[in-house]
Amino acid sequence: MSAKLIRGTEIRELILEEIVIEVEKIKKKYGIVPGLVTILVGKNPASISYVNMKIKTANQLGFKEIQDNQPQDISEKKLLAIIEKYNRDDSIHGILVQLPLPKHINEKKIIHAINPDKDVDGFHPVNMGRLMIGGSEVKFPPCTPAGIQEMIRRSGIETKGAEVVVVGRSNIVGKAIAMMMLQKEPGADSTVTVAHTGTKDLALHCRRADILIVAAGVPGLVKPEWIKPGAFVIDVGINKVGEKISEKTGKKVSILKGDVDFDAAEKVAGYITPVPGGVGPMTITMLMKNTLKSLKYQLGIAK
Ligand code: NAD
Repeated sequence: MSAKLIRGTEIRELILEEIVIEVEKIKKKYGIVPGLVTILVGKNPASISYVNMKIKTANQLGFKEIQDNQPQDISEKKLLAIIEKYNRDDSIHGILVQLPLPKHINEKKIIHAINPDKDVDGFHPVNMGRLMIGGSEVKFPPCTPAGIQEMIRRSGIETKGAEVVVVGRSNIVGKAIAMMMLQKEPGADSTVTVAHTGTKDLALHCRRADILIVAAGVPGLVKPEWIKPGAFVIDVGINKVGEKISEKTGKKVSILKGDVDFDAAEKVAGYITPVPGGVGPMTITMLMKNTLKSLKYQLGIAK
């Protein structure tokens, strides 16, 4: 058996097309477009690359995009003042502070300073709380879990009553997707188990999963014999395991591996997401969706 590949790169295109259509309609009717500010502190190469991808996508969708680059030694006070400026700017609907921040800045304090109604990353405790309540309370689901759920929904597989096992309990991935999958809603309503470093028999839990979501950050952690035949395996892990020269560009690129032993797992699973090209592209897509949603809240037209 060979699993059906669920590619984020393909689903992303469908969602981006939907966003473009909505942006055009809103622009015509209300004369406003979604506004996103990306705040980048310092020159961390990975952060620059993530921010550039976000800017590129926002521009491609016709958003207003402000790229606010700040030096590595910016004070916490100054960064808080910058956030406050965007909190008060009605043309900005999403404020994104690229993490990690330099050590002298308290990340928690910065996240807490973002107006929860502009927190399109969904990391503010208010939005985390809304996620726990579920339903219409949820404004901005965190982007990676939202992308995972979108992939599950669009694959058409039954989630009601499904055994969902999540490996990893980080706030931004594991705990959040677990919370989303247990809500009594379409594309959820599952029985959820969260496994983590304290779990005694990880393989035992994984083997029960109809939907196995792995976000551990350990390359090749999940072995094929841990996978129930026909299961939907979602590999969130992005692990740099080396470097190579790209045939296309001739430049040095990272070799990325997921948390699942892909080549062997795809022979057992029913559906599987690849790394790269799986969950990764969905994260930025959902950030754009949240920014559009934020504008719709401002206009009073969000569902
Ligand atoms: P994290 O380090 O914050 O959390 C990892 C979790 O996995 C922890 O809760 C830990 O308990 C659990 N874990 C680690 N090793 C384990 C093991 N051997 N057995 C059982 N549980 C174990 O990481 P994170 O931010 O949740 O990210 C996880 C992975 O997903 C990373 O590879 C990260 O790069 C990737 N990621 C991808 C995207 C994306 O857009 N696709 C977004 C965020 C994170």
